[in-house]
Amino acid sequence: MEAQAAEKVIVSVEYILKNGIATKEEAEEVGILLKRACKAYYEEDVKLMSDDDFDLLNEIYERFTGEIVSGSKGTASMEHGYQRMMNTLKKAKSLEEFEEWLIPVVKDIFGSSLDLDRDIIEMGLSDKMDGNSVLVEYALGKATRAVTRGKDGMGVDVTSMFSERTIQLNLTCGVKYEAMVRNSKMPEVSKLRGKELVDARSAITGILGRDNGQKYAQFIDLFPIDVSLEHRNLKREEVLELLDELHGDSSPNCSFVKISGTVRQVIAKIKEIYDRNIEGRLGRDHGVDGLVIEFLDEAIRERLGWHQGTSTYPKYARALKYPAYEKKTVALRMEFDIGTTGRITPCVVFKPVVINGRTYQRTSIANYRRFMQMKVGEGMKLLFSLAGDVIGYLDVLNVPENVGIEPWKFAETCPECGAGLHVNENGTYVYCKNPECDALVAGKLLKWVKKNGFKGIAESTLSKLIAEGFLSNVPSIYQFVHNQAMKDRASEIDGLGETSISNFANIILSQTKIKDYIVLAVTSPEGIGRTGCKPICKNIPLSKMFELAQAGRMDELVPMLIEQEGVQDVNAQKIVKGLTSDLMKWAFANGFISIEETYSEAKEAAKTGMNICVTGKLNSGSRDQLVARLEAAGHTFHKSVGKNTNILLTNDATSGSDKNEKAKKFGVEVLSEDEVIARLGL
Ligand SMILES: [Zn+2]
Repeated sequence: MEAQAAEKVIVSVEYILKNGIATKEEAEEVGILLKRACKAYYEEDVKLMSDDDFDLLNEIYERFTGEIVSGSKGTASMEHGYQRMMNTLKKAKSLEEFEEWLIPVVKDIFGSSLDLDRDIIEMGLSDKMDGNSVLVEYALGKATRAVTRGKDGMGVDVTSMFSERTIQLNLTCGVKYEAMVRNSKMPEVSKLRGKELVDARSAITGILGRDNGQKYAQFIDLFPIDVSLEHRNLKREEVLELLDELHGDSSPNCSFVKISGTVRQVIAKIKEIYDRNIEGRLGRDHGVDGLVIEFLDEAIRERLGWHQGTSTYPKYARALKYPAYEKKTVALRMEFDIGTTGRITPCVVFKPVVINGRTYQRTSIANYRRFMQMKVGEGMKLLFSLAGDVIGYLDVLNVPENVGIEPWKFAETCPECGAGLHVNENGTYVYCKNPECDALVAGKLLKWVKKNGFKGIAESTLSKLIAEGFLSNVPSIYQFVHNQAMKDRASEIDGLGETSISNFANIILSQTKIKDYIVLAVTSPEGIGRTGCKPICKNIPLSKMFELAQAGRMDELVPMLIEQEGVQDVNAQKIVKGLTSDLMKWAFANGFISIEETYSEAKEAAKTGMNICVTGKLNSGSRDQLVARLEAAGHTFHKSVGKNTNILLTNDATSGSDKNEKAKKFGVEVLSEDEVIARLGL
């Protein structure tokens, strides 16, 4: 009876959300669940639970264990108390918006007797750096772990980039930094990346997300903006003192200013600093996109507290954003681009403007609908702005000179093939009507080439071969590379030549095996990607899906697809479209390529790496010892029996324990200790 009670496992999210965690065993279960959810999310792009459930569950887990689970690849988790530091501040987009926040807050503090010219407040101002947040954990001054913000508030492990860092303070603490690349270092970073990077903001985002980020670490400046001790909550004064000391480790620091006075005086002072900084920010070597303004008084901070909701932020601070970079200019002409999906994008060419040393003279207008609203024409005065990122935005200025200028009309024919155009159902986008349009053909070929990882094939080679009529679809690529006469003729094309054609052919010919999930992704309409197809192909052989689709057995196929994690109705329909496409038929029957099935590989892998749950008394030693042996041999130890468990190891298969019951329910193989040892050769 006692043993059974100890084995009680809770694997339901709903149960924990309702009842909380009561025992250590339950806490362990929840930990496993959370880690699995993270792993699925980051590695398989699959959501095992909603973000809200994940956060709630994590909170419950944190209360019980003092730990939280987060991060990609299941490796990035953060210590107790540091998670809160990764929240972003609520923003005010203008001084007006800032005042709209401040006045009710001071009313709340001083009550109905508030006098803006009498009551005194104190606020702290610091630069809002325009980089990416990185949280570094230190143990006695040495970095142990680093995380940057990932999707939906979860952390992404960047420890390897910052593991060498130390701080002068001999503390065990978490320090939140803004990671930035200085403008002056941009040329070097661009050189290393092998492409021209347009601004420091996109540079840092690109670097932090990379697997081989270490080699860029030397170009990253970390500006400390917050500190938290492992076991003690710090007062803001103490944080500021620590930050002051930390600034010694990295310069330049984000200057901190204290302002006090009557409410009206403080607002005036903030306005003065704000205006001055807007002028001065262009000359700085690192991006600053606003001011952080906060109450410093501990009692006020405590009283205002935190907003808890879809986003969590302190109610005693605001980030007052600087306005976008703006320049006036004049519209010169209209150009229409066609993308590889056949979508036509309108672009305005205007008189060049220079912002932050970079010249801008052409920008796309989001879509057809915006183009129709904008009514832009030749010679019109425009306002060009850069809002925090590199994408420029155009507005037609409301000035008398613009009145009477005839706006441009949208293109009537495709810039690529000259065919007619059509607007989509909701009037947002315009597409080329011609399904044979070179742009579309190029798009499909490009998708095939890119997703299959054919390295070294230039887009320009593809488009030349399309334009000259050698390639018209995916099968024609293979016909082409196997046909010497065609290759010879293609070598005559201007700008191609024998070398580039044989290069192209060799790359295609060298890869005769193609992964099934890539075929499924490429044949399916937009929106179905490789990451979504992979888990499906792991669970159902592509050949089986294809067979069902060809036989028209949709009543079997569609439910099978919808059962898969992350596949909804609409996705299932798209996948069916892919399965019934000519390209899919060709992929199975052409003789040029063979499809590698993920399903059988997954089964093969399962033989070597088993998921094993162990229960009850063992003969060979302790459970820990056995688990160590299992893990050393590449197997995974499961604390409870779940759908993905392969084997339940028990020396008492007849006991009515929870694990035995679950094994029955999930069809998990039940083996004795000796059988497992023999089977796995331990
Ligand atoms: Zn066209």
